[in-house]
Amino acid sequence: MAGARPVNPVAAGLACRCPACGEGPLFEGFLRVSRRCEACGLDLAAADSGDGPAVFIVLIVGVITCFSALFTEIAFHPPVWVHLVLWLPLAVILALVLVRPLKGVMLALQFHHRASEAGHDGDD
Ligand SMILES: [Zn+2]
Repeated sequence: MAGARPVNPVAAGLACRCPACGEGPLFEGFLRVSRRCEACGLDLAAADSGDGPAVFIVLIVGVITCFSALFTEIAFHPPVWVHLVLWLPLAVILALVLVRPLKGVMLALQFHHRASEAGHDGDD
């Protein structure tokens, strides 16, 4: 690692940047984690957030979508197709918008707290 400047793991994760330097891109595709940070050379190959981001997305998007649908139904009594047109695309769009930053935050916090499974020897 080149610099000793502390990096806020939440800020680095939300920006989808390397958790060590906050500079290099964390992802090389939409969700594929880079093998190595381009800026500081941090080995990211062992980084694995598992199902963590999906759990938070299900909870966050579920609450937003369900309460929005309930409010709309109670306040306006629209036909069913209005719910389908509004809430299905909203759920998909919110999930796609949130998955990258949430995965970035989870990986950055994993790195920050040294919780990666790669650090354990002889477990498997
Ligand atoms: Zn880096």
